[in-house]
Amino acid sequence: MQAQLEWLKAHDGELVGQLGDLVAIQSISTDGEHQREIDRSADEVCKQMRWAGLENVAILKSGDSNPYAYGEWLGAPGKPTVFLYAHHDVQPVNFVQDWQSDPWKLTERDGRFYGRGAADDKGAITVQLGAIASYLKTVGKLPVNVKMLVEGEEEVGSKNLGAFFQEHKERLQSDIIVVCDTENIETGLPSITYSLRGIVALHVEVQSATKPVHSGMAGGMLADAALALNVILSRLYWKNGKLPIPGFYKKVRKLTAKEKRAFRKLPGNNKTWRRDLGVLKGVQFSLKKGVHPHEQTWRLPAVTVIAQEASSIKGASNQVLPKAEAIVSCRIVPDQDPGKVGKQLTRFLTEGPPWDVK
Ligand SMILES: [Zn+2]
Repeated sequence: MQAQLEWLKAHDGELVGQLGDLVAIQSISTDGEHQREIDRSADEVCKQMRWAGLENVAILKSGDSNPYAYGEWLGAPGKPTVFLYAHHDVQPVNFVQDWQSDPWKLTERDGRFYGRGAADDKGAITVQLGAIASYLKTVGKLPVNVKMLVEGEEEVGSKNLGAFFQEHKERLQSDIIVVCDTENIETGLPSITYSLRGIVALHVEVQSATKPVHSGMAGGMLADAALALNVILSRLYWKNGKLPIPGFYKKVRKLTAKEKRAFRKLPGNNKTWRRDLGVLKGVQFSLKKGVHPHEQTWRLPAVTVIAQEASSIKGASNQVLPKAEAIVSCRIVPDQDPGKVGKQLTRFLTEGPPWDVK
């Protein structure tokens, strides 16, 4: 691989420039207001695919999906076909004042590159194309066949991806899929992710009356929807044990002894975890006693209240609130069934509500 490594070293600046070109395109998929930029970023990916030496490069679509950039190299008959996945859409820039440099201009600081999408997931496009180019531009061939797909709607749930795979089944047929949209456990330590948690979300709404009433008049008599909601949510409090939802862990696949040992050998300790998560001094982790952080965050389910709304602090007035709502998000793990988890959670939260609120 000497020739390839030397080629990569010699073309480092060019590859960084290509990443910069991708980062400069504001391909935000979450607000529906950047369709032109998403088209442009798909075109730019295609251009870079052709530069790397991929063939049959094309923009593909499924229904009204955002554009997928596709390219392949099939010059290794008899060898396996590797399917590479990445995405060219990005999240919005919400707190622009907190950025130390222009989010749309790839900027190097202390040996790291910063910019919206530089890591998630445009960096993956550059890295994969760099690897491909380093072979095709030196030895003229790859050791395997490659099919590379870069989608444009990962940040909004990839809702067309299933149909897209069905539609383009023949073309996409491969032996192995490599998803390059994960992270390294530590800077400079390449990592292979072999499992991710899924998600089930519930919208919980509590209602006690048809209108808010002055608390001086009805306080203590009218059921307080905000308080009722929080009494319901408090059922989920697991202290440092398991989630108290009946039957919840029944299907959870157990870690093998080998996995357990491997998890414990990985880098990370209390100090680095606390620092990375920004945990305040004196605040404990909510881990079950004896459970390793990697086991909890990779292979055990979890529940999080990701939003709660009743009335704003700014607009607060003396009233008993008749309505309150929250979104409860649940991380699920191998062998848990999302439909069943949704049902278990719904039953657990709706049974016997305080004051019989709706
Ligand atoms: Zn991503």
